[in-house]
Amino acid sequence: MRVIVVGAGLGGLTLAQGLHRAGIDVVVYEREGEQGRPQGISLHVDDRGATALRACLPPGHAAMAEATMGGPRRETLSLTETDGKLTVLGARPLDGTARAARPGRQTARPLLRAVLLTGLEDRVRFGARFTRFERRADGRVRAWFAGGGSDTADVLVGADGIGSAVRRQYLPHVRVLDTGTHMLMGATPLRSVAGTGLPELIGHNAATVRVRGAMMALGVLRFTQPPVAARDRWLPALRGPAVTLAEDYVMWALPVTGERPGPEESPAEVWHRARKAAETLHPVLRTIVGRAWPGVTVALRGATMPAVPAWPAGPVTVIGDAIHAAPGFGGNLAMQDAHRLRDALVRAARGERELPAAIGEYEDAMRLDGFAAPMPPVRVPGGTGGAERRA
Ligand SMILES: Cc1cc2nc3c(=O)[nH]c(=O)nc-3n(C[C@H](O)[C@H](O)[C@H](O)COP(=O)(O)OP(=O)(O)OC[C@H]3O[C@@H](n4cnc5c(N)ncnc54)[C@H](O)[C@@H]3O)c2cc1C
Repeated sequence: MRVIVVGAGLGGLTLAQGLHRAGIDVVVYEREGEQGRPQGISLHVDDRGATALRACLPPGHAAMAEATMGGPRRETLSLTETDGKLTVLGARPLDGTARAARPGRQTARPLLRAVLLTGLEDRVRFGARFTRFERRADGRVRAWFAGGGSDTADVLVGADGIGSAVRRQYLPHVRVLDTGTHMLMGATPLRSVAGTGLPELIGHNAATVRVRGAMMALGVLRFTQPPVAARDRWLPALRGPAVTLAEDYVMWALPVTGERPGPEESPAEVWHRARKAAETLHPVLRTIVGRAWPGVTVALRGATMPAVPAWPAGPVTVIGDAIHAAPGFGGNLAMQDAHRLRDALVRAARGERELPAAIGEYEDAMRLDGFAAPMPPVRVPGGTGGAERRA
């Protein structure tokens, strides 16, 4: 069996690792270069993402991913200002109920991406933008890329994010709706906020601060093992700055109203906007935004994708943001989809299931979980990489 995956994001790379490990011929086509596009720095990984990583990655990769996550996050703390100081007002469990994330651990997205790419060097084609596919009489699928190149496989997987070109052709009736919400997100080295008391106040938990009429979400990632030591132990083949430059940080998110992000806004421009939005906040929060890494600041717009009725399964399918929108846990759903689809394709490759039936089983499970989720944050076009919307 040969599989073409479009998109080297969390879902596409987790799937490619899983298929490669199972001995299935897989190739990933990614429109961006090797560094990818700005997607922020932090990711809350819950049981769905962690299970998918353990199942799809080789043991050394999975151990590296786990060793470089932060500590367990079980609660969201509510912070307030008392006599000029930030204090904890209360705590809500991260229990996966409506509007609450599941318990999990923070991971640094660039580091996870580097782990996911390790070992797939000859399987991923960068700078290859998928444009369209055609289904052939022999049941196979031919994918076309900008510049006129093409490739043929038994299965084509659209893992190409919210603006998915695969989905646009395959399921043209799917709509992506802008919710009108808007958030600025970034990260700040922990050493830059030492002495403020905030990292100690939060621990590993998520936190929400409501002071002076504004709201800010916060989280701290302290690597469980130093990334270089973990790399040397678990995945020596992993190279590059994602490991050597990794350091503990505070991630932050600021909901903003009014001014809409421009299409060509760079991460540095988004950071300047965040600093402006933070001007009236508590001094510690202003410090956090002011000392952030400008290059990883992103602007997000909320979007929702209404549920889509089941379609007949075939050799083309979709995973992750390409087919469902999830508020703050889209990465976990994308990895869960990858895990489920990997299992389905392995069953088909072994002759235990017909290919369309296996893909149909994956899609049924994906629809059940993925379509239950409204309003995720979605990257803004231009400065943050280009999420496309159809209303
Ligand atoms: C700042 C931020 C914070 C987030 N925090 C969390 C979190 O804490 N937990 C969580 O679970 N989720 C989080 N998310 C959501 C999560 O990042 C997404 O849901 C997840 O990345 C979706 O993965 P994916 O593989 O489906 O798509 P993507 O990660 O969007 O990957 C799609 C890939 O396809 C490529 N592509 C697109 N079009 C083409 C084409 N035509 N040809 C070839 N390649 C193409 C893109 O370049 C991209 O690399 C966050 C998102 C952002 C932006």
